[in-house]
Amino acid sequence: MFYYKKSLLLALFTTLSIFCIYCISATTNGNSGILTMGSFTIPIVSLQGIIAAVNALCCIIMVFIDFKKGSKIAFTIMGISIALALIPIFTVHSLAPLPGIVSNIVSLVSIIIIYSFYKRSSMNSLTDFITGLPNRRYYVKEVNERLSVKQTFYLACIEIEDFKNINDVYGIRAADFILVDTAKKLKGKLGENEMLFRITGGLFAMLLNEKTVPEEKLKNVIRSEVMMLPPKEGEDLLVKNSCIVSLAAGIVHIGSNDNYKDSASVMRDAEIALMEARKLQNQKMCLFSDSLKKQDFEQKEAEFLIKDAMQNNYFYLVYQPQFTTNEKKLRGFETLIRCKKPDGSIISPANFIPAAEKTNLITSIDDYVLRRAMTEFKPVVVNEKKDFVLSINVSAKNIGTENFAQKLKQIIDEIQFPPENLEIEITEYSFAESMETTVENILSLKSLGVQIALDDFGTGYTSIAQLMKLPVTLLKIDKSLIDNIETDPVMCDMVDSVIYMGHIMNCEVISEGVENENQLEILKEHKCDFIQGFVWGKPLDFDSAVSLCKDTK
Ligand code: C2E
Ligand code: MG
Ligand code: MG
Repeated sequence: MFYYKKSLLLALFTTLSIFCIYCISATTNGNSGILTMGSFTIPIVSLQGIIAAVNALCCIIMVFIDFKKGSKIAFTIMGISIALALIPIFTVHSLAPLPGIVSNIVSLVSIIIIYSFYKRSSMNSLTDFITGLPNRRYYVKEVNERLSVKQTFYLACIEIEDFKNINDVYGIRAADFILVDTAKKLKGKLGENEMLFRITGGLFAMLLNEKTVPEEKLKNVIRSEVMMLPPKEGEDLLVKNSCIVSLAAGIVHIGSNDNYKDSASVMRDAEIALMEARKLQNQKMCLFSDSLKKQDFEQKEAEFLIKDAMQNNYFYLVYQPQFTTNEKKLRGFETLIRCKKPDGSIISPANFIPAAEKTNLITSIDDYVLRRAMTEFKPVVVNEKKDFVLSINVSAKNIGTENFAQKLKQIIDEIQFPPENLEIEITEYSFAESMETTVENILSLKSLGVQIALDDFGTGYTSIAQLMKLPVTLLKIDKSLIDNIETDPVMCDMVDSVIYMGHIMNCEVISEGVENENQLEILKEHKCDFIQGFVWGKPLDFDSAVSLCKDTK
């Protein structure tokens, strides 16, 4: 809109200027004539002077309307004006137009001065002073202009990973050095009509032509490399630090039919792609797609739901019973979270736990479940059922956090829940994420008497040799293995081997997702210690779980 307004104004002032030139040349005959208007007389030369002044004013205004295009038009018009004024001097050897020429030259010089001043101040406000690159303001202006004329191009949003940490650890001087060096490398990749901007911190934006293949163009710069840094202030000049600098890029293609409204919406999509790129191991480049946008939307929606549920108490717990396979004696319950929205709909954890795990929200959820479940069951464990196991799922992210065992001990102490009645369910992914811390936490919890179950066993990729070393007390065979034991002899043998292996590891074994009597019989045959599944019990609310405890006392 703004762009069209500017073009319209430019056209208007250009027309006015051309009209002025026309009037001046139409009234020029080499002599100084007189124009009479009623009782007034105006020398033609004075009239020309007024028109020339209006023309100069139009040219100056055009420089202000659009610095680039306006200046070009203004210089051209002033050039033509001077040339036309010079003609009579050479043709009729009259010096009459001399004052007009001088005033035109003065106007041209004024325009040049305004142009230079404007250029310098606008360059300052559009330039990043560390790298000398166009800055964020320039990016906004440039992309908005390209969008308004429906230009097609690529935007690559390029990030120096961990830039804040680099700043903290190596200091501002080193961080500036890295910025300048990175800017230089990226700039070297620019082709004709392509631009590089520094947006903020360690974030750059690159506008690339539609005909290029961005991944191909950037493949040699988007990588990790060791960079030698200048010494820190006060350090010996010979002391050189080095730092690993990694770049990641999210790329978005802007087509002429895309509905991008402004530079911010383009940048938002590039940043969604950048988030995906960060997850890659090497060549961290990702091209934005609609499925990425959908994924991002779902993630944000789930995060919103979790925050809403936390604030408004939409979360509640259900407890699924676990039984001994032979005598159907109650072993305890697995705690499962649910979310009930005000419209009455119930949301399964499968729909929000994965989203929570991508953020810190999972810590709040696990904390809520641990406190709530232990508080609810403490009187039952203390007064009624001493050999009872309360099993609680803990995300890989939390069990892999350094002070998790300490935090859990604090909760146990606060609630005064007997630790030997508590079981923590973790998955193989916990070990994959941070083996050392997870094992440390598990060992500390085991020393308190807490039991450790390895959930969803059979779905991961950990090698058997590694699994044998894990300090767990219960193996939970995943439902996907149990589903086919009746029909698939290979699966049946596999379950048999897992039970056997679990016993060798000195673990007890439970099968989850057991849905029918046939599966139950097979598991009994294979000496599986416990079962959990709809065949003997669906997840129950707290009161029903307590009743079940009393019934099976
Ligand atoms: P999980 O820990 O493996 O939990 C077992 C899931 O299988 C539960 O689904 C349970 O309702 C379901 N299930 C149990 N027996 C049967 C059966 O016989 N047939 C069928 N079709 N399903 C059965 P749910 O409650 O939807 O939980 C899904 C996953 O969400 C859990 O898998 C766990 O990974 C996660 N989760 C649930 N509650 C929590 C929680 O409080 N904290 C954390 N961190 N994760 C949780
Ligand atoms: Mg579980
Ligand atoms: Mg499971």
